[in-house]
Amino acid sequence: MTIARPGLNLNVPDGKLTRLVMTRPGEPAGPERRRKVMSIIDEALSANATIANGYDPGRGKPPAPKIAIVTCADPRLSSIEQMLGLAEGDVDMIRNFGTVIDDDAIRSLVLSTRLLGSREIMIINHTDCGMLRFTDSEMEERLRKETGRAPIAPARFYSFTDAEANTREQIQKARSHPWISQDVPVRGFVFDVSTGRLSEVFPDGETVTG
Ligand SMILES: [Zn+2]
Repeated sequence: MTIARPGLNLNVPDGKLTRLVMTRPGEPAGPERRRKVMSIIDEALSANATIANGYDPGRGKPPAPKIAIVTCADPRLSSIEQMLGLAEGDVDMIRNFGTVIDDDAIRSLVLSTRLLGSREIMIINHTDCGMLRFTDSEMEERLRKETGRAPIAPARFYSFTDAEANTREQIQKARSHPWISQDVPVRGFVFDVSTGRLSEVFPDGETVTG
């Protein structure tokens, strides 16, 4: 198996990462002992011990981001900077479920632009987002039934029905925040997961496909 990442390129013997097993403390040794397959985290820790041998120490230098990108936590958006031709080190990547400009995203955007030097903000929603598949009230009802509890938070899940309209709303929320400078452009997009292309969503209602 070859594992390739920016700054990394090494070979790991096939099967080495997936055949590891461990026993619980106190379990009997011998052929009858109960064996437990390692969790994904255990496997990741084991892999890290090998992969770190190829780590480029230069990647540990302090960051100097040029742009902040807010996007969804969906795995299909994980390499979005590569689809934009941007260097990993130039991007402050801020991700949450549904590309929401909420209190925490604002916190990161303020720090990225005011403290770290990002000069532009890009908000990237996407097609086929999981947040299109339920409503907040449906999710709340389901969780109340499953758990028998009704906690005070989260106040919202930020589900939505229209990716473009939702993107427009997020642009407005970021643009109107008093601690995000008017000198910092805030632009919104919808990434099509089936084509890899971006459509720009303008605040006045227009959308232009790239
Ligand atoms: Zn999503």
